[in-house]
Amino acid sequence: MRRPMVAGNWKMNGTRASVAELIEALRQQELPAKVEMVVFPSCVHVSQVVSGLEGLPFSAGAQDCAEQSGFGALTGETSATQLSDAGCEWVLVGHSERRSLLGESDEVVSRKFAAALSCGLKPILCLGESLEERQAGQTLEVVGRQLAHVIAEVGIAAFEQAVVAYEPVWAIGSGLTATPEQAQEVHAALRKQLAREDQRVADGVRLLYGGSVKADNAAELFGMADIDGGLIGGASLKANEFGAICRAA
Ligand code: PGA
Repeated sequence: MRRPMVAGNWKMNGTRASVAELIEALRQQELPAKVEMVVFPSCVHVSQVVSGLEGLPFSAGAQDCAEQSGFGALTGETSATQLSDAGCEWVLVGHSERRSLLGESDEVVSRKFAAALSCGLKPILCLGESLEERQAGQTLEVVGRQLAHVIAEVGIAAFEQAVVAYEPVWAIGSGLTATPEQAQEVHAALRKQLAREDQRVADGVRLLYGGSVKADNAAELFGMADIDGGLIGGASLKANEFGAICRAA
């Protein structure tokens, strides 16, 4: 019922030359028609990626957007309006690197989510607990709070347009993947929280897992009942590996 999705977060990586090579290598991959596939290049490469992906079954997204839509005096920021104009269909909001390294609060993340939707971009809301929070038994409370803020800002119906990515902070870029059972427990709790607002919306929302997903652990994770695909960092920079992850979904 829910179409599987695999998203590649390229983070602050790539040059025009390496991006062209990666697109060419993705072109050589055998890609599954049933899976929705999206890549998230650095903002500076969005236009190159949008035109480079023509004829390929990928859409493009941005890794962040400003809280403010439209245009204005806001040096260094890029609005959802501009990203949409550049050909993005998606945008990541609330990635843990932005929450922890750049100080984005739940309020900021919620406003970015709303800004994306108001410009016709589909947001992928990233959330997850730190290692200390997991060790303190606070995982479900933390992700529940992160999700609740966004629901309060935009309302449950907005989640018909959105995707949620559970990314435990301790699993990102660390090689430590959550076990399928650990991830499933959180995904089930998130879906239950959404269902308390609207069962139909909750049943339709795709919940992705992210954090050290590789070709050799993807199938097991994606096999869990409430895991509808993945948000892939490091492994999305290698076309063979990313292609294999897409085929596992
Ligand atoms: P990773 O990153 O796959 O390199 O762990 C995931 C992410 O940060 O989205």
